[in-house]
Amino acid sequence: MIPEADIGASRDYELVDVRANFTTKNVAAAWLMLALGANREHAGNDGYDDRASLHYSWDSTVQNHARVAVGDVIALWDRKELVGVSVIEAINTASAEKVLYSCPRCGKADIKRRHREKPAYRCGKCGHLFAAPRQKTKSVTTYRSSHGKRWMNGRGLLSGSELRALCESPKSQLSMRPARWERLRQALLDATGQASTVKDIAAAARLAIAGGHKESFVRTRVGQEAFRARLLREQGEVCAFTGPTPADALEAAHLYSYAESGEHHEYGGLLLRRDIHRLFDLGHIAVDVASGTLDVIPSLHGYPCYAQLHGQPVAVQLRPEHRVWLDAHWLGKRPRA
Ligand SMILES: [Zn+2]
Repeated sequence: MIPEADIGASRDYELVDVRANFTTKNVAAAWLMLALGANREHAGNDGYDDRASLHYSWDSTVQNHARVAVGDVIALWDRKELVGVSVIEAINTASAEKVLYSCPRCGKADIKRRHREKPAYRCGKCGHLFAAPRQKTKSVTTYRSSHGKRWMNGRGLLSGSELRALCESPKSQLSMRPARWERLRQALLDATGQASTVKDIAAAARLAIAGGHKESFVRTRVGQEAFRARLLREQGEVCAFTGPTPADALEAAHLYSYAESGEHHEYGGLLLRRDIHRLFDLGHIAVDVASGTLDVIPSLHGYPCYAQLHGQPVAVQLRPEHRVWLDAHWLGKRPRA
């Protein structure tokens, strides 16, 4: 069968919007996405982008198309096995005209191309045989995720049947299926020695914690000077939380667990005043990314210089990457009851 979603989309579109959905919730969203690449029937020039380690493309004819959000975990598979796992950094949406193919008799999209017999097509619903499918042009919304930063190659780690078992509905036939992140994470930890990579993905996902496990967000001195110099160039003499501050009092704060990942991520840091940095690392100050405001724990409200920060907007323009990290920090430091 040929799902509608796998057939012909136009490449002639412009990117018109960057979507960022940062709602917090108690269950991390994870998706098992079918990435068949060149093996797709009708693949050819179908407009889908199959550079699995960087992007995944879909459109509004696919079920769950609008539910996928920045910060979600994306697991790509080819039906036989896992291809890789990452976290969605951005989703670009655009409009496109898409050609849909269907049975000329019953109108269903469940049609199959026959390789040896004539006529070339058979309808899977009504059994009709025909030489050419009906074509219909439809306006669709196209989506394209970017997820290259966290990509972990998954070849050889999990089989198709293991992956199906991790989904909310193991018998689902959808090309984009909701998966259980806690189970997927555990399966990845069991299947690979790369615990740090899996934890890194977890930290970048909307929910960094599951089952009471806490990620730690720590500072490091390795490469710190270069990191700080770059942030000063980009951000100027500004504490990201409190505003203009002399460079001598500013530190480069990693927003994620540097100790786990061992690398500097682009837009994974902000300049913070030294005392603010310390309190941020402890989780006493956090950022509510839904509102873009600072949250100061009640025990600091007796100190006017910190109390006045509570509920204030952050002082710099946050990038989507910052928001993902800050959200993970929030969830790691302020676990919900
Ligand atoms: Zn039919």
